[in-house]
Order: sequence, then C-alpha cells, then structure tokens
Amino acid sequence: MRTQNCDLPQATSHLPLILVLNSGSSSLKFALIQPDSGEIVFSGLADRLTTAEALLQVKSAGGTRKTAPIPFATHAASLDTIFRSLKDFQIAAVGHRVVHGGEKFRESVVIDDAAEAAIATCMTIAPLHAPPNLVAIRAARKKFPQLTHVAVFDTAFHQSLPPYAYTYAVPYEWYEQHKVRKYGFHGTSHRYVAQEAARRLASAPENLQLLTAHLGNGASVCAVRNGKSVDTSMGFTPLEGLVMGTRSGDMDPNVFLFLHQQAGLSLMEVTEILNKKSGLLGLSGVSNDMRTLLVEKAKGHPRASLAVEVFCYRLAKHLLGTAAALDHIDAIVFTGGIGENSWPVRQRTLEHLRIFHATIDHELNRSHGAGAAGRITTSDSQLLALVVPTNEELLIARETTRLMKPC
Ligand code: AMP
Repeated sequence: MRTQNCDLPQATSHLPLILVLNSGSSSLKFALIQPDSGEIVFSGLADRLTTAEALLQVKSAGGTRKTAPIPFATHAASLDTIFRSLKDFQIAAVGHRVVHGGEKFRESVVIDDAAEAAIATCMTIAPLHAPPNLVAIRAARKKFPQLTHVAVFDTAFHQSLPPYAYTYAVPYEWYEQHKVRKYGFHGTSHRYVAQEAARRLASAPENLQLLTAHLGNGASVCAVRNGKSVDTSMGFTPLEGLVMGTRSGDMDPNVFLFLHQQAGLSLMEVTEILNKKSGLLGLSGVSNDMRTLLVEKAKGHPRASLAVEVFCYRLAKHLLGTAAALDHIDAIVFTGGIGENSWPVRQRTLEHLRIFHATIDHELNRSHGAGAAGRITTSDSQLLALVVPTNEELLIARETTRLMKPC
C-alpha cells in the first residue's frame, strides 16, 4: 500500500534534534524535540491506521497544522511518509517509546541488534503493543543507520518494585514459568512528573515521597519513594487498577467463568469487553471521555454521574492503598488529560481522601494550580496536592541525549 505524498510543512530548524517515536496499536505519534529547551519543532500523529479513515496530522513550531488522508496505511507506510517529511531537519538521535521491557530492561538502552532481539522476546507478554514498537524500531534503524537509537520502556521505572509488591498470590510457578507478575505501565510519565514536582518543590527527587496519578484514557497511580517506583496500580497488563476510559480496572476474575456459563461469552469476548467496552464507557453508556461525562453529569444523567463517582472513589482507594509503600506523603501529583484538566475529578478524589486532611483551595483547583506552581491545596493543608502536566516525549528525548554516542 503506497501512502499519499502529503504536503507537509518545510523544515525551519538546523539545531540537532531528537526524533521521538511512539508507536501504538493503531496510531503512531512523532515529535522532533530540542532536548535542552524542550521545544517541539515538528510533531504529528498518524491514527486509525489500516482503516479507510487513516489520517496523518502534523504541526510545526509556528503552529501550522496540516492533515492528509493516508487510507489503509500501515505503521510501516505511515513511517515512510513521516520520514520523508523530516528530510530537511538535522536529527541527532532517535528515542523510541517501548511499552514493555519485561524483567530484562530496568532502564533505557541503546538499541543494537541484541537489544532489538530482546525487545522482540517481550512480544509474548505484550502482543498488542510490542509488534508496532518493533516495526518502528526496525524502520527507523534502517532509515537512520548512522544514528543512535534508544529504547525508553514504560515498564522500566517500575522494575524497582519489591517482590512483595509485584508478586501475585497465585501458584509461584506461574511467575517462574510464564513471568506472570505485576509490571506496571506509564512509567515514563510517573517518572517525569515526579522529577518535575521535585523541581517545583525545590527539592531533589531522592528526598521526596510522592503519590503520582496519571489520569488519561489509560490511568494508573504510583508510589515514588526517593525517586524510585515502589508500587503502582497497573499489573501484568494495563487492565488492572483504576477505572479507565474503556478498561474496567480491578475485577474479580471469576466473572470470566460466570459470564461464560450465564451468557455464553467466550474468554476472548470477555477480555475484549473488559478492555474496550468497560470503564467510563461501559458504566455510563455514553462516552469514554471525561469531558462529555462531566457535561452529562451536570445535566443530571444518572449513569454518567455514577461513572464519574466510581472513577473518583476507585482512584482515592488506590491512592490510599498505594500509600502503604511510603513513610509519609510529600505530595499527591495529578497528571494526564483528566488529572491536568478536570478540577471536579480532583476535588471529588481529594474529598474521599479526607483521612489525609487535604484542604482544597477551590480557586487554585479550578485554575489547575496556575500561578502557584501547580498547588491546588491551601498553604496550610496537611496534604499537598499538585497538578503537573506530563511530558513523556521530553523525558524520552532527554534519555536519548544521555545515552547518545559522543559525535
Ligand atoms: P489523555 O489520554 O492523557 O489524552 O487524556 C484523555 C482524557 O482526558 C479524556 O477522558 C478527556 O476527556 C480528558 N480531558 C482532556 N481535557 C479535559 C478537560 N478540559 N476536562 C476534563 N477532562 C479532560
């Protein structure tokens, strides 16, 4: 399948830039980042890949946006189009977001043939995400063989969890033979906001104990103790834990057998429903999008209201439970599309956390902590809560710069 030749913006920057690639199951995001300033000079998203509606959208630093249909484009074909659009930029290295690093990868690595082969072995535990990651790695290494390529793993930050936090209470052979354990995800985001919160608090990450809540379409919490992840809500896959856009989060696994016997659903069907038709969407019957649900809730829609309530209560419960990994809490940090933008969700969640004696500054909460370095609790609150926008691409660009071969 050939992609169309898009009329993409011209390059304007001659600074060495890091290309960050984030290849998901049906989408591919890229960003060209100046790692010192964090400036994104050119970025884009190809989504709905392999469908008739596949679309490439790009944005230049000046704000010029262009879109081009790329019907039925695969990951590989859309990468070709993206690479062509980058020909006038000076790219210094390529950073790849890799969803699963299993137990092999405790930190970011330079991708050589051995690392690429090891990433490929993670395919069995992440069959949805690992293949598109590999397609992007292989295509980019072929296109830019002279550049350093770095893999930054979503799971790596959580490899510091102690065995009692990552081990499930199932026959131990499941772990030994099949590596069934908690891995945790969103590690790049939790790590970035923990570092950024430390900067805002004029402290070193090593001196802080934080609870971070990444609340986007996927959602997870993390206990970050002295700069290291010590517990997190997602598990073997990104299904466990919080209520998400379309994922159920925590569930009793006996429901599989019950629904099979009562409703004739197969294992595949229940799995698909728990991942794609549950969460906010399944509860509300309206949308997986928190913005829509808050509008419907305000109009009195009972199931939209219930969906928001279940989301906030489960979040508070996980924050309380995850706090077991800390001695004290220096701050709770909200991030992700919902965490950064949805003040009613933050308010309701902090109300459920009354046992921590958080006093919300309602004006600051409604303005997402503007002018107060993200603080949304009063200055005398016993619990400090912050809003810190995440920037996974920047962290990937910085990791790539750190591991780059000297020129
Ligand atoms: P993400 O996956 O991080 O892009 O986050 C997506 C989620 O953030 C969706 O549920 C959006 O509805 C939610 N979101 C984004 N902006 C807002 C907003 N202004 N108010 C409430 N939710 C928002």
